Amino acid sequence: MLDEHDGKDIRCGGSFMIFNKKRDLVKVLLNFSEFFKHESCGICTPCRAGNFIIQRKLERLDHGLANEDDLKDLKNWGTLMKNTSRCGLGKTATNSLILAMDKFHEYFSTKLDKDYDGLNLKFDMDAATRDYEEYKI
Ligand code: SF4
Repeated sequence: MLDEHDGKDIRCGGSFMIFNKKRDLVKVLLNFSEFFKHESCGICTPCRAGNFIIQRKLERLDHGLANEDDLKDLKNWGTLMKNTSRCGLGKTATNSLILAMDKFHEYFSTKLDKDYDGLNLKFDMDAATRDYEEYKI
């Protein structure tokens, strides 16, 4: 398979997956990101940090908390990893993500937090600090 995004001839391992329309694409991409985060040896920063950050952003999308800036960050980190990672793992880890975002832009738009107005209003402070309250002296 040729990567036609940036004109470079990057070949994959020859595998492909088929999903029906019932599969949640964000969950599929989360599985991929978990794999690449686990497999990253961590020597170079773009791959080590990028895989972690991309997973956090995909989780925001999955929970309906992401906004347009998160989509831009996903694309930017994906491109950065592709261009600056040291080996093929980091260079190809975000191929699926970048392709999916290009091909299914409307799908990703439907996953955004429609009520976002610059504040994370869905963040549950009480739930986030519940454990802290138990340890208060
Ligand atoms: S791109 Fe390769 S060398 Fe760099 S952290 Fe990832 S697996 Fe390691």
